[in-house]
Amino acid sequence: MKVIKLREGKERSLLRRHPWVFEGSIAKGKADFGETVRVESAGGDFLCWAAYSPSSSIKLRAWSFDEAERIDAAFFERRIAAALAYRARLAIDSNGQRLIHGEADGLPGLIVDRYADTLVAQFLAAGTEQWKGVIADALLAATGLTRLFERSDSGVRQLEGLTPVKGWVRGEGATEVELHESSWKLKLDVAEGHKTGYYLDQRDNRREFARWVRQLGAQRVLNCYSYTGGFSVAALAGGATDVTSVDSSGPALARATEHVTLNGFNPAHHLALDADVNATLRGFIKEGRQFDAIVLDPPKFAPSAAHAERASRAYKDINRLGLRLLAPGGLLCTYSCSGGVGPELFHKIIAGAGMDAGIDAYIVDRVGAAPDHPQTLVFPEGEYLKGLLVMRR
Ligand code: SAH
Repeated sequence: MKVIKLREGKERSLLRRHPWVFEGSIAKGKADFGETVRVESAGGDFLCWAAYSPSSSIKLRAWSFDEAERIDAAFFERRIAAALAYRARLAIDSNGQRLIHGEADGLPGLIVDRYADTLVAQFLAAGTEQWKGVIADALLAATGLTRLFERSDSGVRQLEGLTPVKGWVRGEGATEVELHESSWKLKLDVAEGHKTGYYLDQRDNRREFARWVRQLGAQRVLNCYSYTGGFSVAALAGGATDVTSVDSSGPALARATEHVTLNGFNPAHHLALDADVNATLRGFIKEGRQFDAIVLDPPKFAPSAAHAERASRAYKDINRLGLRLLAPGGLLCTYSCSGGVGPELFHKIIAGAGMDAGIDAYIVDRVGAAPDHPQTLVFPEGEYLKGLLVMRR
């Protein structure tokens, strides 16, 4: 077993159980791609077992802080069992669930979502890439399923020196699945959709949106960055009769349209607009349109803190426009999935947008990702999705 020695004082974050070690913290030692290594402090004390990433600036990702633990098939079976046991306690009202959420589940670089009878995984770091076959078998044994599709076509793999991969790891067949969320049906193609196919992290926020639309009697609803119309279906379920979905992806909008009829709603109550959100909002303002409820759920504007400033301006822009389109008493549900924009900064951005729009609003809720996308106490980087629900005064 190869040993990686850290520089003096660089053991602190590992002692707090934070699972990453950056290049600059390493004093001595090298290993092969994804190889399990023993990590020691400058004084020679055991710190953790970790996977080595030769090309990433995150050189080590800890598998275990227990010196007696072996990193083998049984290790992955234990971690997967623990992750599934947590999900079972959440009693999630959907057959679409995030089963493994990387670091928060003690499996850095692994994302696994379940959609009905199909597992979809992203192997994003050298360690998980190396153990792919073992992890796939352990996942299928633990869930009793037979199909696992790989969607390792995310850009972050490049940092590990890995090329994109997409295809069946185990099983085969149709890649189209039907998801049941709240009382709604949603279709997706695990080979074609964004990320692993759908945005499961917004599940609870879509359900809450339906509740708000009903409670407020909201009729005119604008769903910006709608993707396949999850929030639009929620709005129709809440009783809205004039719902507009805006997205720049034609295939996503085709799904949104399909979802309206699949759930038994009147197609005349829904309009799918293939357009840029910013331009659409400006156009609606010119036309003097108003909405009773608006969703703004843009893609990640700031992948890291380095992009926070430019992203802040982009968030402020769309939120200023969104606020101006709200009818008095109307609700804006605004989200950011940028890890580089924390909840406090996001709050400030929305406050700034309100100032510029000359509109004040009550904050009626602060929300995050559904709990099957867990955050843990030791890994603050895990926080990414945050939302503010504000009601125009
Ligand atoms: N709210 C959705 C997820 C949104 S993901 C849900 O609950 O499922 C972000 C979406 O923004 C993607 O579908 C992407 O196609 C769209 N998008 C990105 N940039 C855009 C732009 N400038 N104008 C319109 N849509 C955009």
